[in-house]
Amino acid sequence: MIPAPFVYQALPMRVRFGSGSIGQLPDEVARLGLSSVLVLSSAGQGESAQAVAIALGDRCAGVLAEARMHVPVELAERARADADRLGADGFVAVGGGSAIGLGKAIALTSGRPIIAVPTTYSGSEMTAVWGLTEAGAKRTGRDLRVLPVSVLYDPELTTGLPVGVSVTSGVNAIAHAVEALYAPDVSPVIALMAIEGVRAFLAALPAIAKAPTDLDARARAQYGAWMCGACLGATTMSLHHRLCHALGGTIDLPHAPTHTVVLPYVMAYNLPSVPEVSARLSALVPGPDPAIGLWEFSGRLGAPRSLRELGMNEDDIDRVASQVASSPYANPRGVRVDDVRELLRQAWAGTKPSV
Ligand code: NAD
Repeated sequence: MIPAPFVYQALPMRVRFGSGSIGQLPDEVARLGLSSVLVLSSAGQGESAQAVAIALGDRCAGVLAEARMHVPVELAERARADADRLGADGFVAVGGGSAIGLGKAIALTSGRPIIAVPTTYSGSEMTAVWGLTEAGAKRTGRDLRVLPVSVLYDPELTTGLPVGVSVTSGVNAIAHAVEALYAPDVSPVIALMAIEGVRAFLAALPAIAKAPTDLDARARAQYGAWMCGACLGATTMSLHHRLCHALGGTIDLPHAPTHTVVLPYVMAYNLPSVPEVSARLSALVPGPDPAIGLWEFSGRLGAPRSLRELGMNEDDIDRVASQVASSPYANPRGVRVDDVRELLRQAWAGTKPSV
């Protein structure tokens, strides 16, 4: 098949992948000519951050284990001041999207490089997208200065990721791949990565649920995270990401569980408008329909099913629907406020997707 015209812009970064690759972090820091890096993590990953700091020895300027979801602007400012005070010439972000997001917030104003050591499947390490939250509103943007220059994937660091977080983080990654497949700027390379990423997670997540320390399954999931993250970094996301952004930013719902609940409903809404994407996903997701197939898949793995159980009030449906329908963005199917309201109603109640 001859592909339709497309543009593919490769992002400048290096990936080191494999069990035990954390051992190469000091080499990676030296290779970049860095002599004093600040290690960043969430509070829960403080021990891993300390272990990394010890391995880095003299090349470590300090540890800041305070990263939080959606990067509050006050935290970013404090971290920037700490980085200056400690004379940090770069950052090592160990953890999920929160730790990497904090590194991005500092890199955005300082231009100092980030080495990412991802321990969830969020994909932030593969993107030049930053986010900052101020007074309850989240701003995002793209800037190449925040793209990690080096990413070190070590599956051994993920064996302690709880099964519930693994499942929702994995479906969060699948969402990047699904929306990349119908993105206006998708290219054949990214479509291959998207399919490969979805395939990896559909195999890895049930194996992780059965045996969370299964290193092969963990490696497969991290490989999927790389593929899906690259999709997020290279394409324009649509309705699904817009909805989750609004649900996270406006009513503070948790990032990965929200993606997990919403994705099947957006797929049910969008896929009839993109039959070629639907066919590609049908070949991967078990069952007659990929939206229902994914809903059943994550339900079987114990993932949350409804926005209600994530803490959303029914009264918030109208507010979020108006917000999402009023801002323009690419989507394969037109988005009217009534459609979004209906989609959110189903996602709120957790009924079988039929939008
Ligand atoms: P997270 O980074 O907050 O991690 C979730 C929880 O898992 C935390 O409590 C963390 O301490 C814990 N955790 C992480 N790794 C662990 C491990 N190996 N073992 C045990 N516990 C572990 O959540 P996330 O879903 O990875 O990231 C969400 C944030 O990232 C949001 O703010 C979101 O907006 C952002 N994000 C940004 C992009 C981007 O491209 N800019 C992409 C995806 C997500």
